[in-house]
Amino acid sequence: MTEIGLGFGSNVGDKIANLNRAMERVFTGESVHFVAASSIWRTAPWGYVEQDWFANACAVGRTDMSPEEALAFTQSVEEELGREKTFRWGPRLIDVDILYLGDEKVATERLIVPHKEMFNRAFVLAPLAEIRPDLVLDGVAIRDAAAKVDVEGFAKLSPPWRPRALPSQ
Ligand code: ATP
Ligand code: MG
Repeated sequence: MTEIGLGFGSNVGDKIANLNRAMERVFTGESVHFVAASSIWRTAPWGYVEQDWFANACAVGRTDMSPEEALAFTQSVEEELGREKTFRWGPRLIDVDILYLGDEKVATERLIVPHKEMFNRAFVLAPLAEIRPDLVLDGVAIRDAAAKVDVEGFAKLSPPWRPRALPSQ
C-alpha cells in the first residue's frame, strides 16, 4: 500500500458538513484506509475571487489504487455528494483533489500527480502541514512550503474529521 494525500474544498451550502461527508465517504470501505486528517480551515477564495469563502481540509490514507483508479474514486465521491460542474475554480459543493500518491509521477491530460498547483496554494499547504510537515515532494518539505505562503484571513473552523469508533463488542 502507498500513501495518498487528498485535498478537500467546499464553498457552497454547509461547507463543514460537506467536507466531513466527503471524508466519511472516502474512508468508509476498502479503497482508502484512514491515517490522518487536518483541521477544517476557513480560507480565502482563490483563482476566481468574487465568490464565497472556502472551507478546506487535507487527509492522508493508505491505498492500493493506481493513480487512474484514485481519480475515478475521488470523482465518484464528488458525484455522490452532488457536485455539479460550474467552471474551473468556480463555486463548488465539494472538490476532492489528489495531492500525491506515494512517489508516483503522472502527467496526462486527465491527471497530474503530485498536484501541479499545490505548492502555490496556501489552502492546501496550511492544512497539509498540520499532518505531514516532514513530507518532501519534488525536493521541498511541506513545512517549508507552508511557511512561505500567505495565510491571511485563514482560521481553523472545526476539528479534524475522524472515523466513528467501532461499537464495542
Ligand atoms: P485545479 O486543477 O486547479 O485544482 P479544480 O480542482 O478546481 O482545478 P476540477 O474541476 O475539480 O478543478 O478538476 C478539473 C480536472 O482536473 C479534473 O477533471 C481532473 O481530470 C483533472 N486533474 C488533474 N490532476 C488532478 C489531480 N491531481 N486531482 C484531481 N483532479 C485532477
Ligand atoms: Mg478538483
